[in-house]
Amino acid sequence: MPAITKGKVLVTGANGYIAVWVVKSLLDSGFSVRGTVRRESSIPYLKETFKEHGDKLEFVVVPDITKDGAFDEAVKGVDAIEHTASPFHLKAKDPQELIVPAVQGTLSVLQSALKYGDKVQRVVVTASCASVLTASPTPRTFSEANWNEHSIKECETKGPNAAPVDMYRASKTLAERAAWRFMEDNKDKLKFDLVVLNPPFVWGPFLHEVDKPENLNTSMLDWYNTVVKGTRPEEQLTSISSCYVDVRDLGVAHVLALQKAEAGGERIIVSTGEWNWQDWINAARKVEPSFPPGKTSYDPKQAEYLVHYDTSKCARIFGLKLRGLDEIAADIVQQFKERGWVQ
Ligand code: NAP
Repeated sequence: MPAITKGKVLVTGANGYIAVWVVKSLLDSGFSVRGTVRRESSIPYLKETFKEHGDKLEFVVVPDITKDGAFDEAVKGVDAIEHTASPFHLKAKDPQELIVPAVQGTLSVLQSALKYGDKVQRVVVTASCASVLTASPTPRTFSEANWNEHSIKECETKGPNAAPVDMYRASKTLAERAAWRFMEDNKDKLKFDLVVLNPPFVWGPFLHEVDKPENLNTSMLDWYNTVVKGTRPEEQLTSISSCYVDVRDLGVAHVLALQKAEAGGERIIVSTGEWNWQDWINAARKVEPSFPPGKTSYDPKQAEYLVHYDTSKCARIFGLKLRGLDEIAADIVQQFKERGWVQ
């Protein structure tokens, strides 16, 4: 079980919403970073964003993460890997659109690390609470012991008619399971261990390249549409709830996942607390009262949250102080204002 405190880290999908914060946290902690992107055109913005780090940041283009050997070159010489690249959207017509890149991408990184990653001591996979939770009509607390079997079954039985959210959740569950199985199947040959981070909904200011709100990543676009534009039916503002974590905190958690020896071999839920949409609306309206008010009859003291997470493992291993909902909402609104996205 290594504690990795210096060296070069490979970050896959380095241009994504979460990944750019992972890159920043790694660079700020003194690591060098090699990022993979699908397209050359993603590189100039990232180089400009992190220009003060000079040659501590480099890039490799990996056009298709599902191909065998896709990461063979990228893993050479790195001390650790943070695998974030995976599709996160709810527009798939068929579950395989998400499952294939999620599972094959994860296996491809691990296989390349096994074959060519002579220096790799640890692989961190950005998984999701999507592979932990199962929708429940009554409040339930989930822990790392839980697996989302439901979404896999939904996709197996309904195929293209499965709910888009189940397609995404199945992709994350199957990818995480494939990673653990790979570790088990290859345990006699491996020189690295695995850490899986399971965040719930991730929000907070973005650092990746976004030209207009419509091009925000899935979680932030949902926030923008619901909180700023008020597009969600009122009934959903209190009936939809889950848990959240700040994207900056999640970036730091990815660094701690390398630095903390005891994280090795663990899946770790990284979650701050519960939310429903009206909580976000109320928090945002404290700094921008012109936003649509949503459900004005809402009483937060009466809120019923169906999904809770046991975060004791995260607290024990990472000891990370996580940002709360008010602070995150205020920082998002501030950024939207700076962009001119809020009138
Ligand atoms: P994002 O901004 O959409 O980033 C996704 C990254 O994965 C991008 O670099 C993207 O590359 C890459 N990618 C997507 N599909 C791909 C494919 N078929 N082949 C190769 N690369 C592909 O999303 P994010 O929110 O940062 O998500 C990053 C990770 O965190 C994902 O694994 C996601 O499941 C997980 N996660 C996200 C949340 C959340 O609320 N945001 C919550 C829990 C877990 P391109 O830019 O080239 O498309």
